[in-house]
Amino acid sequence: MKNLERLEAEIAYRESLVRALAPDPSEYEYGGLNYDSGPRSNEHCACGHPIRLVFMIERERDGKTAKIGSTCINHFGAISPGQVERMVADYNVMVERIKEDERRAKELQRKDEIAGLEAEYARIHEIGRVRYQAYQNAGRRAPYELYWAYGCYSTRLPKTCNKTYKTTNGFIGWYKKHIEILRSVLGNILNGAEINV
Ligand SMILES: [Zn+2]
Repeated sequence: MKNLERLEAEIAYRESLVRALAPDPSEYEYGGLNYDSGPRSNEHCACGHPIRLVFMIERERDGKTAKIGSTCINHFGAISPGQVERMVADYNVMVERIKEDERRAKELQRKDEIAGLEAEYARIHEIGRVRYQAYQNAGRRAPYELYWAYGCYSTRLPKTCNKTYKTTNGFIGWYKKHIEILRSVLGNILNGAEINV
């Protein structure tokens, strides 16, 4: 949007905010009541704009309340100075909380991903181990790839990740890489192809 259009839109919203809080918008006070109505909210600011973060303002003489959004708290500051600072401070707290929630949700998602990768790695690791053991039990020499994975170099492919990464992404990377290695080592053993031991 061009600057002029944006300015016109802003003025239009500010005018409808003033109209909604008529006759004297400065009678309204922000008492600290606010809430996050969520990303798919149906809430609207007194100006008519759809909003997610809701700030409740109240007119003391008749108890009339109105909702205003995070853009109009700045307009409201011009209408009723002295309140904008508290509203903006609360706005910042709300935004921080939303960011923190999103960060936690992402972290949980990553933990789920790690658990899935760990299970898949354990599954194919066990298939190869059983096959290698079968060669051992039969007193026969295992194919080189199996020997590489489960024989003298078995520390290269531990049963689970033996690293102590500080980030979940480290574990995700480790499992993805080692699943790939194990898949290429086991090849058609994973495809169910029977090999006479
Ligand atoms: Zn508004």
